[in-house]
Amino acid sequence: MKRHTGQDRSITQNWRPATQAVRGGTARTEYGETSEALFLTSGYTYDRAGDAAARFAGEQDGMTYSRLQNPTVEMLEQRIALLEGAEAVRCQASGMAAMTAALLCQLSQGDHLVAGRAAFGSCRWLTDTLLPRFGITSTIIDGRDPDQWKAAIRPNTKLFFFETPANPTMDIVDLKAVCDVARNAGITTVVDNAFATPVLQRPLDFGADVVAYSATKMMDGQGRVLAGAVAGSNDFINNVLLPFQRNTGPTLSAFNAWVVLKGLETLDLRITRQSENALKVAEFLETRVPRVLYPALKSHPQHELAMRQMTAAGPIFSIYLDGGRKQAHALLDALRLVDISNNIGDSRSLMTHPCSTTHAGLSEEVRQEMGVTEGMLRLNVGLEDPQDLIEDFDQALRAAGL
Ligand SMILES: *Cc1c(COP(=O)(O)O)cnc(C)c1O
Repeated sequence: MKRHTGQDRSITQNWRPATQAVRGGTARTEYGETSEALFLTSGYTYDRAGDAAARFAGEQDGMTYSRLQNPTVEMLEQRIALLEGAEAVRCQASGMAAMTAALLCQLSQGDHLVAGRAAFGSCRWLTDTLLPRFGITSTIIDGRDPDQWKAAIRPNTKLFFFETPANPTMDIVDLKAVCDVARNAGITTVVDNAFATPVLQRPLDFGADVVAYSATKMMDGQGRVLAGAVAGSNDFINNVLLPFQRNTGPTLSAFNAWVVLKGLETLDLRITRQSENALKVAEFLETRVPRVLYPALKSHPQHELAMRQMTAAGPIFSIYLDGGRKQAHALLDALRLVDISNNIGDSRSLMTHPCSTTHAGLSEEVRQEMGVTEGMLRLNVGLEDPQDLIEDFDQALRAAGL
């Protein structure tokens, strides 16, 4: 296979993000196709037995089996690595496969990690339920306060794990401050960057070691496939993550990788427009509901920090109603344009009641401490005309008595 001449990393890494998102990682076959080829193959053939032996010995370039390598998946990995400013990336079958691999590949019995309390429900299940079964303990803290990260460090602390902005309360973690604490203590920082994407925030630039993604969200961007990715140094990806990934098999399918490659082409356009739309809708809702939590609004308690480490605030925010679950469900039921759906990152506007859906599996106590109350709703603002969204909310708020 002949590589596109532009794919010399010393050249592509100097492209600006919009160029990388469209062209980064592309490897053309001898047919010279413009759009990335989709390699639906589980295996590969060899001209001679000696070639197979050499490839398995790592002495010959080439692929051996799609759990280990696939040309379409590799294109996506290289594109994400460029966007993220990472030396290397490996993709997984879902965001949770990425999070699980990023943690389990480097933790062992007796290790300790510190994690931010505001987190995706399944990420909390990993730290609170799965890891303790293997003798890996965790301390869950308020990630907004850098001092709490420092205070939670023990002699056996291996890892800091957090998302920012965090799902669904939009807590912001000070990337620079927390990564500095970790670095000084020899601790690895793993950041779940699903809400921001490299368009809005690049955690590696602030000193993070590993960035993990649900590419299901903004990277696909049109609600089609599940995908995940882990970015880091060559050493971490090849020597720590890869042995775990190759042997446990959370591999991304080539078809899903191809869909996400197409999604990345418009990532910058979509996130920029969706952030603009979200701000307009948030400003409207702020005039009608008791509380809107969106980092782009001055009313967000960490507005300045968020705008220092992000270029815009993205499509997602939360609102709080006083009338509990009854009023929250009434608002959802009255929506005509915005869909009731717990997905995010889609080009459609979607709204969910986290307390009775995404965060229903957590205890009431954990929900309270995370700020997931009965009156909270989470909104993903899509690419529709924001005025249509505002009109839909206007009528639905009235139907819900607001
Ligand atoms: C959706 C999400 C995940 C999980 O990703 P999947 O692709 O659904 O497995 C993890 N973290 C955050 C912040 C998410 O929003």
